[in-house]
Amino acid sequence: MSKVVFITDAEMLHHETGAGHPERTERLRAIIERMDTSSWRERLDWQTPSEAPLNWITTVHDPAYVRFVEEACLQGRETLDAGDTQVSHDSYLAARLSAGGALAAVDAVMGGARAAFSAGRPPGHHACPARAMGFCLFGNAAIAARYAQQAHGLERVFILDWDVHHGNGTQEIFYEDPTVLFASLHQFPFYPGTGAKRETGTGAGQGFTVNCPMLAGSGWPEYAEAFEKNILPHAREFAPELVIVSAGYDAHNDDPLGQIRLETEDFAKMSRLARGLAAECCQGRLVCLLEGGYNVQALADSVEATMEVLCEE
Ligand SMILES: [Zn+2]
Repeated sequence: MSKVVFITDAEMLHHETGAGHPERTERLRAIIERMDTSSWRERLDWQTPSEAPLNWITTVHDPAYVRFVEEACLQGRETLDAGDTQVSHDSYLAARLSAGGALAAVDAVMGGARAAFSAGRPPGHHACPARAMGFCLFGNAAIAARYAQQAHGLERVFILDWDVHHGNGTQEIFYEDPTVLFASLHQFPFYPGTGAKRETGTGAGQGFTVNCPMLAGSGWPEYAEAFEKNILPHAREFAPELVIVSAGYDAHNDDPLGQIRLETEDFAKMSRLARGLAAECCQGRLVCLLEGGYNVQALADSVEATMEVLCEE
């Protein structure tokens, strides 16, 4: 049986966000160390990403916005939006690599890998077509979905977003699009303010956005119910040819940003549900892309829990 592909690159540690910022280099460093220092190394097919070509980034982003990000980083600007999306000189390169990791993950599973996890930063699900937001520069999951459709000829892609924050960027990009099913579980009301249950898509995309808002304090019982009653039925009906998970780990009980009470083993449970769905619908094609997760220990533990599930026979 083929291995699980693990994609990351220490180059992305050069995306510096300034003192005290939650989306800091230690996050990725802890994940790399965890994967590198256990028996994991042999169980995984390690790959480093190439920079995502601009023609794929611009499938979801305005070319002028991409140029703006490049110039802002190279010119030494420190913030790209109202304040929380901090950048440094090498952030544009990191964002191209982070998106490139998403493309490599799609290539891996389309080439028969058991599953693929791309541990990249900056994250992507808040990035809008022409705007950076919420620590995100380029919409990695959205770019991966378009790449799967246009480079690999898939018709239907399912993006499951379990980051504690609503993936407003991904939702916006596919809101009118019936070829990408977007489902999100997130704390609500909470940043960024979107993700109400009534947001279900528009036009041809009506019914292809599924929001599962969770009150602060929710935990596995509420998540399990949302999967069983809402997410899995919608996903099965959609019959995706690829499952992409926007895998944020900030719904962890120990996370300093969110107030959701998932434990490390609950991320294993969600990973198993995603894997089961992919096995059922699309020959197991499952791509996980790192989003948030701001308690470094809980993040490394929970990524490891996901990898354990992806590697299960
Ligand atoms: Zn988040």
